[in-house]
Amino acid sequence: MTLKINNNLFHELCPICGSISITNAYNLMYEGKLSYSSTQIELLKKPELWKCNECKSFFTQNAINEEDSVSLYKNSDAGKRWDAKKFEDEKTPYCVNVFKKFIRKDIEVLDIGCNTGEFLDFAKNNGASTYGFEYSIKSIEICESKGHTMLENLEVENKKFDVITAFDLVEHLYHPNTFFDKVIKLLKPNGKLIIFTGDIDCWAFKNCKGRWWYLNYPEHVIFISKNFYENKLHGLKLKNIYYTFNNRYFKNLNFTMAAIFNYSKMLGLRKGLKPYEGLPSPTPDHIIAVLSKT
Ligand SMILES: [Zn+2]
Repeated sequence: MTLKINNNLFHELCPICGSISITNAYNLMYEGKLSYSSTQIELLKKPELWKCNECKSFFTQNAINEEDSVSLYKNSDAGKRWDAKKFEDEKTPYCVNVFKKFIRKDIEVLDIGCNTGEFLDFAKNNGASTYGFEYSIKSIEICESKGHTMLENLEVENKKFDVITAFDLVEHLYHPNTFFDKVIKLLKPNGKLIIFTGDIDCWAFKNCKGRWWYLNYPEHVIFISKNFYENKLHGLKLKNIYYTFNNRYFKNLNFTMAAIFNYSKMLGLRKGLKPYEGLPSPTPDHIIAVLSKT
């Protein structure tokens, strides 16, 4: 069954920093029928990618409304869509080592948007107490069965965490500042928020623009720049950014492959084929941003 979606969410201000100085950057290559999580949908409007001239972030216009998005996500069997590999087997060794720096014995870790708990398993195996938050009912059941404590919401009183992680989450947020405010309240003094997300400042996006695979409309709605974390975010201070690949399989596709994909089209060798969408990427296209409560 295909659900018709009125994708008419239009921002007058930057949804990330609130600036009025926003401009249409690129058309997005999505229209008609597509899938949202595991549900088939049909869009009524053409989506666009806009840029904020103030914080240098990007966001989608003619996004689908938050209520539609939440209900689509809640009813999807996310665990079925993303096959659940062990965290250490899925991520690059570099990425795993970055997280090993922050996950220690006896600390309390909350993973927001924890899906079926692969990162929480990793944290638990490294001696941390593990907590998760997730919309998907199926995912909650799986996490609980593995011994992780699931929060019903993020308005938790009397509970603070040493480390809060957000994998593949911030790009889905309709109200990023509400999210950051909640996280600040949930962190212990000097606690860390560690964000894993696509890098809107990366080579692949600069080359592919509106075609970049990671834009992934309609699920991804905002693309927060490094500039925002550095200059416009209050209450959390950017400590470090690590540049990485989405997972170890993407990394193994090397630069030569990317060059062939990218330039064979210019030479007229790829007529009729899909243009390059940034995979494989010759350079890392994700970041691990470590922010500390100030
Ligand atoms: Zn902005």
